[in-house]
Amino acid sequence: MLIDLENIQWSCTRETFDPLVKLLEKKYLKNNTYSERMLVALDEFFKYFKTVWVSSNERFWFESANPFRSSNNQGIEGINKDIKQSQTFRKLLPMGSFVDVSLRMCQEWSMSDNSLLEANREKKHLFTQPHGLKLRTNGYEWLQNNKESSKIVKVAAKNVQKTLLENVSMIYAVPSSKTSSNDIPLKDYAKERLKSRFDVSRHSSYDDAMITRQSCHIIEQVGKDYFCDCHEGIKGRLCKHSVGLMYKCGTLEITSDVRSKPLGQKRQRGRPKKMPHCLTHSPEPRTVGPVPRALYLPSPNSSIHHPEYPTQVTKDLTSRQLTPL
Ligand SMILES: [Zn+2]
Repeated sequence: MLIDLENIQWSCTRETFDPLVKLLEKKYLKNNTYSERMLVALDEFFKYFKTVWVSSNERFWFESANPFRSSNNQGIEGINKDIKQSQTFRKLLPMGSFVDVSLRMCQEWSMSDNSLLEANREKKHLFTQPHGLKLRTNGYEWLQNNKESSKIVKVAAKNVQKTLLENVSMIYAVPSSKTSSNDIPLKDYAKERLKSRFDVSRHSSYDDAMITRQSCHIIEQVGKDYFCDCHEGIKGRLCKHSVGLMYKCGTLEITSDVRSKPLGQKRQRGRPKKMPHCLTHSPEPRTVGPVPRALYLPSPNSSIHHPEYPTQVTKDLTSRQLTPL
């Protein structure tokens, strides 16, 4: 049951949350193989669960309640730790010094750089974070394994009734680890998923709904960013599917450190090798400039220091000849 609840947590949307909880309840309470005692206990659990976690104000604990945004308070806790460690030193301050410390803290923080505010997801995660290289490598490897056009289904957003995000320009469906490799094309899985994404009434049981939910992943494109609804992606992190699509659509350049790892093998320790025969700089384009000409004033046969010329002119000419053409 814990696994089932976890699946609801990451996979449902605001529209499918209530119906899925109902289906889950049905799955356990209508199970005839359970003993009488077990059923009573389950009934009690579901009563508690529904009052505390489904109908109360705390019901937005699933990821899609606020899709692709922060779903924990780790950031705030980090700042709190920072304040204790380097500002208040874990002491309860009297009002006067508290104001002083706050002012000093604001002054210090105002000087830190704010480039992260404007940085997009791709630049922030893929090139500055320590796990960026791993993410890029995984994305590249995933794309190499799913290169065929049958493995990435593209649907224009205007043909789809509803999307998780706003201003979606394109929707992609990609196979998941649970996509069975039998004859059913990915296109059919994608159609089924798009239909039941915000409406699970077509499914009669919880397991049915979950099989469809996990049959493939749906990626929404907003501008140049890709938002995937796989387990990793829905939590607001970049996943290999999004990175793979960035490579495919040319938003991201395939660098040599990403290509240097053989597919399917582990990366060796240490700095990634530079690929041999890899051009790190593009050669300069070959253009022919104007043919340089010497400037002869007066005629080349006459000396500058000719006695016929007054000294002023001689000086003038010398300086002119020195200036670059
Ligand atoms: Zn994904």
